[in-house]
Amino acid sequence: MAERIDVGLIGATGTVGVRLAELLAGHPWFRLAEVGASTASAGRTYGAALSDLGDFPSLDDHTLGLTLKTLDEPWDSPLLFSALPRGVALATEEELAERGHLLVSNASAYRMDRDVPLIIPEVNGDHLGLVTRQSERWPGAIVTNPNCAVVGLTLALAPLHRAFGLDRVSVVTLQGLSGAGRPGPAAAEVLDNVLPFIAGEEEKLASEPQKILGEFAFGEVTPAEFKVSAQAHRVPVAHGHLMAVSVKLSQPTEVKDIEVAFQNFMSEVADDHLPSAPERVLEILDDERRPQPRLDRDRGYGMTVTVGRLRKCEALDVKFTALVHNLVRGAAGAALLNAELCRVRGFMGEVGR
Ligand code: NAP
Repeated sequence: MAERIDVGLIGATGTVGVRLAELLAGHPWFRLAEVGASTASAGRTYGAALSDLGDFPSLDDHTLGLTLKTLDEPWDSPLLFSALPRGVALATEEELAERGHLLVSNASAYRMDRDVPLIIPEVNGDHLGLVTRQSERWPGAIVTNPNCAVVGLTLALAPLHRAFGLDRVSVVTLQGLSGAGRPGPAAAEVLDNVLPFIAGEEEKLASEPQKILGEFAFGEVTPAEFKVSAQAHRVPVAHGHLMAVSVKLSQPTEVKDIEVAFQNFMSEVADDHLPSAPERVLEILDDERRPQPRLDRDRGYGMTVTVGRLRKCEALDVKFTALVHNLVRGAAGAALLNAELCRVRGFMGEVGR
């Protein structure tokens, strides 16, 4: 892995795209070589477009000097990270896969497509095998990461699913503002307030975990069978999605056994030494005031999911609080980790031009 490979980033000026560019700065395997955005931004240098958004000291002069392209222009990099809005992704990711690119996408457009892997490497890296099914549809490939809240929820559920089986899950989310992308809700709407509806979010929470925790055999994924009831809220927190989770397990289980299952959770990619994989994918806290977004979202450089307040549930079996950094583990870091997995699993040689 001595030579860095050139990668492109589409949706580079968005909330997730900028964070991905920052994570790619100094990445040992990938070098950001091309950036793209809407026609409103195309033609500007990346630095000029970002100057409207703030200061990004980690981005070097080469990156800031890149010219933003449209998606119709030719792209040279075999690997393209996508941080496009769903509607745009639906129309263009397939076309870019037809042009031979490997798309590593944050968008929800293809997550539930039966030929497209929906990956959290530590949990279901084996689902990457779905990519071979795509060869009949296009010469490239699409690999997706889950919705930002789903990443945190599913990482917290995975040890319980493995050890005891899941029957039913209830989750109430308190989601940070950066999860809404730009421009996000108006300040007057969120200050001193909580918004009890996020379009499309509850549907994703209710369906993506089963695909991720499903079984990959004979070239396809059979979704896990538990039900998720989700209630999503937007709260005036900058970054971080906090979740109150209650779970009914498939077998009688003591809280202390659940704690052991959390502590013993083994990442499926522990031996792959992926550069963006955190030392601890799950951190379990026994301080009843934690996790909190401001205090805990940056654990593991934003890649660790924090679980706390584990206790018996009066209605189901057990309940706890989980926290995920929506922009890192829930989006940019998730995509980067997926790309690293693609590389070590040899999927970069199979697609691309
Ligand atoms: P965002 O802040 O709204 O950024 C959207 C990006 O897409 C911008 O770079 C924008 O370019 C570009 N774009 C818009 N229309 C385009 C078009 N027609 N052609 C080319 N580029 C276009 O959104 P975001 O929050 O970063 O989210 C990006 C994706 O990641 C979404 O699918 C979202 O659901 C998903 N996601 C977001 C989060 C999160 O926490 N925010 C977490 C997980 C997944 P301009 O600047 O030129 O408009």
